[in-house]
Parts: sequence; structure tokens; C-alpha cells
Amino acid sequence: MSQRGPHPAAVEPYRYTLVERLYLPLLTGLMVTMRHFVRNLLRRGKTYTIEYPEKRRQYSHRYRGHHILTTRPDGGLRCVACFLCATACPAECIHIEAGEHPDVNVEKYPIVYDIDMLRCVFCGYCVDACPEEAIIMSNNHDMAFFDRAQSIATKDDLQKPYTYDESRLGYRPRYPEEEAQHAALRHGLVDLVEEARRRGAQSAGGERHSAAG
Ligand code: SF4
Ligand code: SF4
Repeated sequence: MSQRGPHPAAVEPYRYTLVERLYLPLLTGLMVTMRHFVRNLLRRGKTYTIEYPEKRRQYSHRYRGHHILTTRPDGGLRCVACFLCATACPAECIHIEAGEHPDVNVEKYPIVYDIDMLRCVFCGYCVDACPEEAIIMSNNHDMAFFDRAQSIATKDDLQKPYTYDESRLGYRPRYPEEEAQHAALRHGLVDLVEEARRRGAQSAGGERHSAAG
């Protein structure tokens, strides 16, 4: 005689309880929402809501927002159309068409440089891959599009002058302001070590003095 196994051999439809059929478990979730709603209503001024766009959160200067194509002092793009950024891009959202540069010192330049902002995942790999520091990111996250075509940031959009505002820079290979802070910190640490040594030498000298007396 065959024994019945530990697992059911047939798939049976799930049987909903009366409570589930009345959707009552949803009330638990609604209660959480209501609790937060009432608490925030009574604690005005202590809420975590930021009334954007009138108020804005201060993001880190490493924030990865809208890209910037940087320029040389003569105003030309630093980009040499090497395609490293496009190759590194996991979303495959960078489209470059290279052309021969009239200046013989610059081999190539991008005739077309487009980034599809709706496909971009703002990972910053393009910035990491670029050997020329030709692409960096800004703090700008105001990106709203009314149709698909507007989401394509062209070469002109990517080198708009507003993005050169120092306070709005985001992810980039170098942070000169941070380097100055780190140098000051390192200097301060060396001073602390020197101070500790000096005090140690002073107290050892004092002990020898009192032992001799
Ligand atoms: S941030 Fe990432 S996803 Fe966006 S363009 Fe650069 S590499 Fe591609
Ligand atoms: S942005 Fe940098 S990595 Fe991308 S094509 Fe230009 S030079 Fe190469």
C-alpha cells in the first residue's frame, strides 16, 4: 500500500478567509499611513518634507546629476571622441559620432555627443572612464521632459554655461577644495604627533630632574 508523502501531490487553490475576502488586512497598511499623516500634521515644523522647488535639499558635492562636457580655455570641447565613456556606460545611453579635428594637435572631436537622460542610471562610470576629464557631473537634478525627444541631452545642452557654477558641480575626478582640507588635516595630525613627542620629552626630562635632586 502506498504511503502519502510529506508534500501534497496536487496543487490546490488558496482558500481565502473571510477577513481576507473583506480586504481587512489592507487596514493595517492604511493605519500606518494614517499614523504618519496625523503625527506630521501635529508636529508642523518638525516634518521631513521639503517643499520643492521653493526649498531645496543641499546635496553632496559628489552628487551625480546632469552631465557637463568641459571645455578648453579656447572654448573647444575637451572631448577627443575616444568612445571610452560610451563603452563603459552600462545603460548604453551615450551616442557619439567622431570627426577629424582641424587642429592637428587634436586628433578627433565629437560631431555628435548625445546622452539619453531617460536611460541614464547616473552611475558616473562615464566620468571614471574619461581620460581627458572631458565629462563630469553637476548637482543639477531638475530634469523634467514632456516628450521622449527632450530627454536627449545634446552637445549644446551638455556644455551650457550655467553648469560651470562651482557650487553646482557634482561628481568629478578631482576635488581641489577637498584636497586643501585633507592637506590641512594631515598637517594638523603631524602637529599633534609633534606636540605629543614634545610633551613626552618634557615629562621625561622633569622626572630625571627630580630623581637627581
Ligand atoms: S552616468 Fe552611467 S548610465 Fe549615465 S551616461 Fe554615464 S555611464 Fe552611462
Ligand atoms: S567624454 Fe571622455 S571618454 Fe567620452 S569620448 Fe570624450 S574624451 Fe572619450
